[in-house]
Amino acid sequence: MEAARAKLMTFDLIVIGGGPAGCAASITAARAGARVLQFERGRFPRHKVCGEFVSAESLELLRQLVCHDHAQLVTHAPKIPRTRIFLENAELVGKVSPPAASVTRFDLDRVLWNSAIQSGVDAREGSPVQCVTGTAPFLVNTAEGPLEAKAVINATGRWSNLTSPQIRARTTGERWIGIKAHFREPRSSQSVDLYFFDGGYCGVQPVSVSQNGAGTMVNACAMVRAEAATSLQDVFSAHPALLERSRHWIAAMDPVTTSPLVFHEPELSHNSMLQIGDSATFVDPFIGDGISLALQSGALAAQCLAPFFKGECSLEQATSDYCAAYKRKLSRVFRNSSRLRRLLQWPSIVRKPALSILQRTPAITSMLVRMTR
Ligand SMILES: Cc1cc2nc3c(=O)[nH]c(=O)nc-3n(C[C@H](O)[C@H](O)[C@H](O)COP(=O)(O)OP(=O)(O)OC[C@H]3O[C@@H](n4cnc5c(N)ncnc54)[C@H](O)[C@@H]3O)c2cc1C
Repeated sequence: MEAARAKLMTFDLIVIGGGPAGCAASITAARAGARVLQFERGRFPRHKVCGEFVSAESLELLRQLVCHDHAQLVTHAPKIPRTRIFLENAELVGKVSPPAASVTRFDLDRVLWNSAIQSGVDAREGSPVQCVTGTAPFLVNTAEGPLEAKAVINATGRWSNLTSPQIRARTTGERWIGIKAHFREPRSSQSVDLYFFDGGYCGVQPVSVSQNGAGTMVNACAMVRAEAATSLQDVFSAHPALLERSRHWIAAMDPVTTSPLVFHEPELSHNSMLQIGDSATFVDPFIGDGISLALQSGALAAQCLAPFFKGECSLEQATSDYCAAYKRKLSRVFRNSSRLRRLLQWPSIVRKPALSILQRTPAITSMLVRMTR
């Protein structure tokens, strides 16, 4: 046993998952001098269910994480300076200030993965982690056999084989699914448009700027109860204005879907692994903060582990520093999503007059949008 262990290569950090959270952690740790191995179950590039709205709060961090030759991912991304909310026959318009950016997951995840490799991470695609055992050192098992690390970060997203029993137990009877596809639209508004209907909502925003009048590519991404819709066509039919708009679209890809969507408060460590991004928590996507939270929590976890890799503190101390910093810096997102959710859940008899006031006073709508940031 000891002889077998002696043959194992020990890494400072193994990051499991190659999405925005995992790459933010691996890039930050590698640039600080740690020896980092990263596993991703799938392969890049690939489409992923997501509204592709990247909030302004994380654009500077994204710029820093992305290697120099991929800088145009951020600089050329269409800007989203306003939102339109379509609810109960009302159309509310609000400012998104500072503007958000629109970045496809096809490009975002591929660029972050390549930036991890360029930052010195030993990044392995098509390599699912089967299980993790032990604690400092941890043994991480893949089809290649076990590998050893001083610390492990779980960045496997909302739902994976590493999701803890505590989060699994939080699934309720409700089944929410996500569906998305890109479409060509003759002319688009530079806004994120949210169409709410019974059983869910659909967000639409441009993901490429119009070139030579050839039209824009838009992303239509819905979060719906499984009994309300199972295809994007069902989603479009659920809202008259969206149905009318979608009549002018030409599909640019086959739709992709995902389930289940389980909302829960943060679980920042499990079995001594730090958890980041959606593995830590999943917030309602309509506030468009999931990618931002993934990037920020990934960078934060790596920063908190740095003193541990230098022998300046224990893993327990680094974990406790991460939990405290996460709560201090990132927990506002839950307050924001629950504020908006409460507003949307008002009974129709109260909501209708409130919407009529908001429709006549866009400044109040802009203030509400600002409150969610
Ligand atoms: C319908 C919908 C719309 C959304 N819209 C937006 C939006 O507009 N803006 C926004 O900011 N956020 C949005 N989000 C949320 C956003 O997509 C997530 O918050 C974000 O992807 C989280 O990143 P992550 O890296 O934590 O997880 P992921 O992006 O899910 O990455 C996890 C990775 O881990 C890999 N993995 C899983 N298991 C293993 C394993 N055992 N071994 C190795 N690898 C593994 C997976 O293949 C995956 O690549 C939306 C989500 C949904 C469902």
